[in-house]
Amino acid sequence: MKRLHKLNTSVLATAHALAVVAIVYLVMNFSWWTLGLAFLWLWLSGMAITAGYHRLYAHRSYRSAAPVRAFFLIFGAVAVQNSALRWAADHRVHHANTDTERDPYSIKRGFWWAHVGWVLTRRKDVSGVPADLLKDPLIRWQHKYYIALAGIFGALLPAAIGTLWGDPLGCFLVVGFLRLVIQWHCTFSINSLAHFLGRRPYNATITARDSFITALVSFGEGYHNFHHAFQADYRNGVRWFDFDPAKWLIYGLSRVRLTWDLRRTPTDAITRARQGSSTRGS
Ligand SMILES: [Zn+2]
Ligand SMILES: [Zn+2]
Repeated sequence: MKRLHKLNTSVLATAHALAVVAIVYLVMNFSWWTLGLAFLWLWLSGMAITAGYHRLYAHRSYRSAAPVRAFFLIFGAVAVQNSALRWAADHRVHHANTDTERDPYSIKRGFWWAHVGWVLTRRKDVSGVPADLLKDPLIRWQHKYYIALAGIFGALLPAAIGTLWGDPLGCFLVVGFLRLVIQWHCTFSINSLAHFLGRRPYNATITARDSFITALVSFGEGYHNFHHAFQADYRNGVRWFDFDPAKWLIYGLSRVRLTWDLRRTPTDAITRARQGSSTRGS
């Protein structure tokens, strides 16, 4: 029997309970403003995880200006998924050891383990500290103040904004906790659903899969087979029509010079991978 991670389990249980309270509150005191702010916060923190924690920090797939990095780190904290330093370290272990014993969220241990079981369980830390990320003072700052940032920007700021339309409690509950729980399951789906549902056009030997449905719930991270095959690419949905808002954001910011050195896989390498995978079947 694995040992329960008491802190993570109580944080998740409390947030889920408060999310239920938030739903009841919203039904009784419905406000479009409160709901709109929750959507805005969901998108801001979702993009901070996808474009920031994942593609910028875990994979270094492009470079960006300090204000953009500060935004990603503040709203990444709002998603309450650990500091960017820890998140990126775990994620690099996932890529280096996909589908093996050392993969912290291996789908081989079951759908629910990959989704949330690994968060609730104590495990040996094998990820170490990524030395390349430690060089960034903003990363060190966020790692130190991660919990304070999560509380201030994740729940207190929305409550303060809610006073503008007389609903601070609603914003605290709905933007703070209902949004957070939805956010978690969106991110968790990348470890569970994206290794479970869809096709394998680029590498048929791994569990990572491409699916539009997963892309919709994960802010564009659903082209996971491509991502595992070409993890340094700033894009996840490589075709122009693939639903990948993080790709559009990173590219859009590059047009105003806030991001640069966007890494792209050469087209012939992508074509070769597609042909190789189709001969093995998907
Ligand atoms: Zn994966
Ligand atoms: Zn990745």
